[in-house]
Amino acid sequence: MPLYEYNCGLCDERFEKLETMSAAKTSECPACGQPARRVLSMVAAPVRAGAGEEPSSFSAPSAGGCCGGGCGC
Ligand SMILES: [Zn+2]
Repeated sequence: MPLYEYNCGLCDERFEKLETMSAAKTSECPACGQPARRVLSMVAAPVRAGAGEEPSSFSAPSAGGCCGGGCGC
């Protein structure tokens, strides 16, 4: 199965998920639970390399309500 990248328009969370080719074009955001839209990630390799080094607070927001500061609210 291909690995798709998703970007949540609500909290700007980015995550990746293995999906079938026929899967829906949205997937539930792990940060806020809202549908996140699939983005093309044909050049995802360099992006992923940096994403793994981001602070844990980015991928697991526990403060700041909807986004943990990701959207500045
Ligand atoms: Zn979200």
